[in-house]
Amino acid sequence: MRADPIQRAIDDDLVPVLYAQDPIAFVSHWFSIVVLVAIYWPDIPSPHLFALCFGFYGVANCAGLALWLCNRRWPTGLSPRAWINLHALRGMLLYSAPGAAIWFAFQSPHTDLPLLHTVMLVTLAAGVFMSNGFDFLNFVTAIPFLLLPSIALHFSVHTFDRTILAIVLAFFFCAINVYALSYRKLFRRVVEARVDQQYLAESLAAQKLVAEEASLAKTRFFAAASHDLRQPLHAIGLLAASLNDGTVAPAQHAKTADHIVRNVEALNQLFNQVLDLARLESGVTQVIRLHFRLAELFERVGSQYRPQAAAKGLALRIAPTTVVVHDDPVLLERVLSNLLSNAVRYTEEGAIWLGYRRAGRRSGGYIEVRDSGIGIPLTEQERIFEEFYQVANPQRDARQGHGLGLPTVRRLVELLGGELQMNSAPGRGSTFRFLVQAGDPARIVSSLGDTVASSSTTEGRRVLCIDDDPSILEGLSALLGRWGCVVRGVPDEIQALQAIDEGFVPDAVLCDYQLANHRTGAEALFAVRDALRHAGHGEVVTLLITGDMASPDLEALSAKGIPVLHKPVTPARLRRTLESLWQQHTAKGGESSTDAGTQPPVAIDGQR
Ligand code: ADP
Repeated sequence: MRADPIQRAIDDDLVPVLYAQDPIAFVSHWFSIVVLVAIYWPDIPSPHLFALCFGFYGVANCAGLALWLCNRRWPTGLSPRAWINLHALRGMLLYSAPGAAIWFAFQSPHTDLPLLHTVMLVTLAAGVFMSNGFDFLNFVTAIPFLLLPSIALHFSVHTFDRTILAIVLAFFFCAINVYALSYRKLFRRVVEARVDQQYLAESLAAQKLVAEEASLAKTRFFAAASHDLRQPLHAIGLLAASLNDGTVAPAQHAKTADHIVRNVEALNQLFNQVLDLARLESGVTQVIRLHFRLAELFERVGSQYRPQAAAKGLALRIAPTTVVVHDDPVLLERVLSNLLSNAVRYTEEGAIWLGYRRAGRRSGGYIEVRDSGIGIPLTEQERIFEEFYQVANPQRDARQGHGLGLPTVRRLVELLGGELQMNSAPGRGSTFRFLVQAGDPARIVSSLGDTVASSSTTEGRRVLCIDDDPSILEGLSALLGRWGCVVRGVPDEIQALQAIDEGFVPDAVLCDYQLANHRTGAEALFAVRDALRHAGHGEVVTLLITGDMASPDLEALSAKGIPVLHKPVTPARLRRTLESLWQQHTAKGGESSTDAGTQPPVAIDGQR
């Protein structure tokens, strides 16, 4: 807990504590006035001064009560600190009169008067300790005024018994100060405990609220998800049953089959969207940044959505740009695809713009997707980022999407280190934009437009593939072979080591994560790396391919510099990953697998 809130809490608690004793103090002081006047009465020394002193005492006591009344009437009229300071002032005025009045006792010929007056002062001091001891200011503006004149005058008499009395009084003065100090510490600890408890109670209540909201959101999520999943399944079930009906004409069968295919496609698309989002949520989606020309990516996504836009009579305008960015082109393409598909879906007339804008003096700039569509009401602008939330689709018509696009976009943009900004108003279109980092034209590896079939960077590379599934091994070998690689496919770690023994020195090792005999791909990769090192070869590019979503083992591997790709891996993604890894490997000084060099930690993922 920081000192500030504690001090404020102490002040809050002090005010009622200090003022609570004031009515009793008022009565006690009148009692003190009566007693003191009574003991001096038969022979009042310096009557004018006496009257002035005790008159002042009486007025100060009444003023103290008036202050108490004000505090009761207007407790929030002043800040707690101001009430505390006023109370200290009242103490100084109130206690200085009886404290100074002991001078009259020393003027009197009656030797027992100083003793009687001192007893009265000690009694008042005990009251001050009880009522004002919690606060330093209120304590020091009362006790010294009350006791110090008495101590000084007793010392000045120079008789044995008065000197002893002065010493005892001085000791009492010190002791009362020490006790008040520990009293204050205790008070502080009590207040700290109260504040901590209050803080805990408040944070518990806030957490409860968050948990309740999360549970509600989850319920909504499952309700919408199960509806959207059941709907096509239900349709497929009905359509499939109708295929068994012998009375239906073959033309009708073809139509039914076509419907089934479309429903399966919709289901597949929904599954992919849900999996994408789950992957993003679980934190396994990783980023691989490349330097590339943004215009190429714009052209690529633009060409996907131009026909849809044209079919609705909309123009899709892409602002020409020569900028090079440093970003993950695969993830960025998913962001732009989602935004453009929404722009086309929610625009009936006008145009859609895709462009790049410099961001002032910062390096990099904003990618912007703008449309002249229906726009989004202000009240919906936060909710549209919730999973399965759609503004105007209460029937959950799957043709109008599922409400997963924007949540995915927002998470992807955050993963890429940016923040999705939105500007939209009903009937005035929408603009979505986010920041991308500037890239270095000199570090562009290859054009994004390169076809997967071109093989300049993969030609002649030796690749060792480890997978216990023969069909995957066969598919992988065929694909890599088409790219010009020399492939050796093996089912396990033992045969991989054997291949190295036989002189196969790979430029890359691709390995499935779950292998037969409870071995993991990570173990196989480490064994292969060790074997290559022992044989005098340097580091090799390694790549794990896994179907697991989130596992601490995978995170640890990624941290150790073993890149991980999540299934399903598309040829384009595999190709781009391998090229990028080889490029990074070369940049670090490993021209081929036989050169020394360390492989940097790489983070990868993607669907394409
Ligand atoms: P979907 O488009 O599949 O419904 P999204 O998550 O992409 O799901 O969008 C959520 C909601 O936000 C949509 O239902 C739509 O109402 C609104 N929305 C998204 N983009 C736009 C846009 N460009 N113009 C108007 N409304 C939009």
